Amino acid sequence: MFDKILIANRGEIALRVQRACREMGIATVAVHSTADEDAMHVRLADESVCIGPPSATDSYLNIPSLLAACEITGAEAVHPGYGFLSENARFAEILREHEIAFIGPTPEHIKVMGDKIAAKQTVAALGIPVVPGSDGAIHDEAEAQKVAEDIGYPVLIKASAGGGGRGMQIVRSRSDLGLALSTARAEALAAFGDDAIYMEKFLDKPRHIEFQIVADGKGNAIHLGERDCSLQRRHQKVLEEALSPALNAAERERLGGVVASAMADLGYTGVGTIEFLFEDGEFYFIEMNTRLQVEHPITEMLTGIDLVQEQIRIADGAGLTLAQDEVSFAGHAIECRINAENPKTFTPSPGLVIAYHPPGGLGVRVDSGVYAGYKIPPYYDSLIGKLIVFGKNRTECLMRLRRSLDEFVIEGVETTIPLFQSLLTQPDIINGEYDIHWLEEFLAEA
Ligand code: ADP
Repeated sequence: MFDKILIANRGEIALRVQRACREMGIATVAVHSTADEDAMHVRLADESVCIGPPSATDSYLNIPSLLAACEITGAEAVHPGYGFLSENARFAEILREHEIAFIGPTPEHIKVMGDKIAAKQTVAALGIPVVPGSDGAIHDEAEAQKVAEDIGYPVLIKASAGGGGRGMQIVRSRSDLGLALSTARAEALAAFGDDAIYMEKFLDKPRHIEFQIVADGKGNAIHLGERDCSLQRRHQKVLEEALSPALNAAERERLGGVVASAMADLGYTGVGTIEFLFEDGEFYFIEMNTRLQVEHPITEMLTGIDLVQEQIRIADGAGLTLAQDEVSFAGHAIECRINAENPKTFTPSPGLVIAYHPPGGLGVRVDSGVYAGYKIPPYYDSLIGKLIVFGKNRTECLMRLRRSLDEFVIEGVETTIPLFQSLLTQPDIINGEYDIHWLEEFLAEA
């Protein structure tokens, strides 16, 4: 087993990985920008290395600095967390060249899934259902028009290199197609440096349901059930729950079996998430994330499996220690992403945290690097913590979530806690009846 792991990330996820390492007796190296000197992930690490100035490009995304930090500290493996370099195939490749283990899949699998057109073709060939659309990239308007007529309007134009919900254009009729194509192409080029685009049927009222998988790269893979991430703002997840209130056990078992055997056939290594839209009883693949997800703790709460420890064991060459029939899904878990933002306008609210008191008690987990006296820097995304709550059933989980939100004290900055409190008064949320557009509609009416 590794003796020392470098965690190439910051904030709550850096702490999360550190905790897993500590329980396995593995020493940790934190890296940080000059803006993060006082961050909790630096304070709690065994060692820390400053890797650059505040801008992420010069620090958390700076591959030479990270390599130097590995060299100086003798770290044998790197955990990338999520975001930053977690889905950067080049980073994984460079580590491999330096004989440092990357705690994640192979660069080849990262590359194929990072190109959405290639990803869709790959999973379709493995038997996973995909959204009807263009067979690969769209090259010109005539081709786009033909595909749109075949699948029917409305259609969605997406960037092959897309991510973070950016670069998507809905087209409702033929007359809007030309402009939408050029806008999508220009946006894709500006945001991702790649103007390849493709087309999909736009689904009207789907839910976003994603399956967690774990695979050992030796042809074994299992699934850990699904998460429902339909509550989104600007295609960004806000609250997630597991299991999905919209799925029955037969549907779960069927699709879970399909994704696990597809990942086994692919020879995939590590944890991954296969994302689907679910409408009228049908699943449609949209993308695969080849890393740990922000919302992974709800799966951990439900299954009792530590996903980060699984990642580390697999990166160290161990096979899967769990069989599919050892995974059970008793109970219910919900996560709220707590952002330092105004809960109505979503304007970021960095600054000094004057008071901090997280909730506790049975079934409550808070993953956060915040403490009283901590100054939230303005340079990074506004996620400052996650409240994850488990209950024997969905009703208990909702009651416990409401109680926990009421207990949560964060003073000095604005947070999205009041948004979650108001969501929990809504009958649709209480009944689990919402699709991917529900939250935007709710916010527009409020
Ligand atoms: P990204 O990588 O940018 O997050 P995804 O492909 O995962 O892009 O899509 C993000 C979100 O956009 C989905 O969760 C869903 O809300 C919406 N979306 C994506 N594809 C479609 C589609 N074909 N029809 C309707 N909505 C979609």
